Amino acid sequence: MTEIKKNGLVIQERDIGENDKLLTILTERYGKLYVVSKGAKSVRNRHMAASQLFSYATYGLRKKGNYYYITDSDLIENYYPIRNDITKLALASFICDIVNDIAQEGNNEDAILKLTLNTLFAISENIKPLEIIRASFELRIAVESGFSPNFDSCISCGQANLKSSYFDIVNGVLYCEKCKNELFFANAENEFSQRGLSKPIAIIPEGVYMAINYIISSKPERFLSFNLDESQWHIFFDTCERFLLNQLERNFYTLEFYKSLL
Ligand SMILES: [Zn+2]
Repeated sequence: MTEIKKNGLVIQERDIGENDKLLTILTERYGKLYVVSKGAKSVRNRHMAASQLFSYATYGLRKKGNYYYITDSDLIENYYPIRNDITKLALASFICDIVNDIAQEGNNEDAILKLTLNTLFAISENIKPLEIIRASFELRIAVESGFSPNFDSCISCGQANLKSSYFDIVNGVLYCEKCKNELFFANAENEFSQRGLSKPIAIIPEGVYMAINYIISSKPERFLSFNLDESQWHIFFDTCERFLLNQLERNFYTLEFYKSLL
């Protein structure tokens, strides 16, 4: 029976019976794996530390049937400050929910793994305000999973360096001041407006336009290194959240819970 050794992050944990856990681990190169950790609920178990949500570790894994089983584990990071703060815990749980929704089994998801580790580190170490981290993550994971918005110029006339613009959240494209009427006409019969879901347009001031363009094209480890005037934060938060949820076509209980704590 083949055994593999992989670094991975626990993005979901479930109890099985009295003593065991079923973990969803996002691993290097192999993407999402379903892993049984025998006896993981006992404090004396040698794999307990590596068998908790947000644990990042090196795992020895053996496949049997549909699941992998932990044969060895070596904890690298457990993001301890996240576990001690209910708001951070709620946000990190939402982050892992999104990742679990997007990442595929047996697919190389290294860009998403790296983004998630950077995001958990930022939450853990207070690198930026939590809402800035959340919105930036929501946008960047959309980019990493192939839903990048077309944000550098007006989709209709091609004008770049926009001072203010109108973002079609459903289609992920921008319109300039001059072309904005096309967007309003295009959306008049949009099914989203009829179904009463979130409004499909965001009005984007220049600062938010620059911040979003930065996040789309920055190096993965630098995706939070931008500044945005606090007066525009709410537009930025709202735009990133609506864009991602529209692409995924679902809501998340963990997001509602996190927002109830703010
Ligand atoms: Zn235009």
